[in-house]
Amino acid sequence: MTTPVRVAVTGAAGQIGYALLTRIAAGAMLGPDTPVIIQMVEIPQALGACEGVAMELQDCAFPLLAGIEMASDPNEGFKDANVILLVGAKPRGPGMERGDLLKDNGKIFIGQGAAIAKSAASDVKIAVVGNPANTNALIAGANADGVPNDRFTAMVRLDENRAKSQLAAKAGVGVAEVTNLAVWGNHSPTMFPDFEHAKIGGKPALDVIGDRSWFEDEFLGKVQQRGKAIIDARGASSATSAANALIDHVHNWAGGGATAEGDWVSMAVPSDGSYGIPEGLISGFPVSTDGAGTYSIVQGLDLSDYARAKIATSVDELSSERETVKEMLG
Ligand code: NDP
Repeated sequence: MTTPVRVAVTGAAGQIGYALLTRIAAGAMLGPDTPVIIQMVEIPQALGACEGVAMELQDCAFPLLAGIEMASDPNEGFKDANVILLVGAKPRGPGMERGDLLKDNGKIFIGQGAAIAKSAASDVKIAVVGNPANTNALIAGANADGVPNDRFTAMVRLDENRAKSQLAAKAGVGVAEVTNLAVWGNHSPTMFPDFEHAKIGGKPALDVIGDRSWFEDEFLGKVQQRGKAIIDARGASSATSAANALIDHVHNWAGGGATAEGDWVSMAVPSDGSYGIPEGLISGFPVSTDGAGTYSIVQGLDLSDYARAKIATSVDELSSERETVKEMLG
């Protein structure tokens, strides 16, 4: 039998964790031939709930699930992990400033970065979901001595999936017809879902829909405010769709789901200076992937002044977050 891949998940007993673990154990993330060992990581108070989730996973009798482990110490929880999904984070409390949230969660990610360096497998790949995800990934990476920086990524895929489903609905086509949808910048309301390069059925989305003002006045707001709309309707933040987007993120990166020739997906990855985005910031970019652990930022896209201005707003926010946490960057 193939050696199982070890997948560690923090916040494993939370809402997203609950929706995520069954999909991982069913093979949706790493493919139908890859057994997995799930390493659940939770704060001590949530280990009881973790036990319950582990029992349910056992009761699903997933053929690919080769083991379940549980820990509250990340040094233990990340031991030999090949994939680490950093989902757990403190939610923003009433009256809490974004800067306070950055600093509170930042402390968690310093320790987790160090634990990754100490305990994880040498091929470890990390995806951060816990908010503020981009800057948390930056902090974890800066505190993980010896782990290559390009292994630290953050999720903007839910924004891409939301944007694709809005375009498909508007055009009256299946969502698979929508391609080349990049989300640039921060996972925050400033992010820019790049409709200027998106395609529907292989043609520019702008031509297919034929009404630029719809994109500027409705589409952007719908994508940026979708999380709030779900909270308003459901009384809780998105969980299944966030888990699904994380499955997609890792599947394209390392689970066999290489991007099709000419297409791309969105990942927040350390900038190498491409498109003028300051080096080191973890920003959403269009990337192509080989499905076997490698991604690369798509080069040579022509950005309009409109797109450049939108991306600059989001990147400025990332720069200011980096400034807020600068003492946490090692
Ligand atoms: P969720 O599982 O719903 O969310 C977890 C994180 O994902 C939050 O930071 C949330 O941000 C973020 N997130 C990112 N993108 C999205 C998205 N598109 N939609 C929804 N959430 C998104 O939170 P729960 O409170 O249910 O669970 C969190 C778990 O983490 C708990 O079990 C808790 O015990 C654990 N935890 C672990 C810590 C640690 O590892 N040290 C510290 C604190 C908690 P947002 O808040 O902005 O929605």
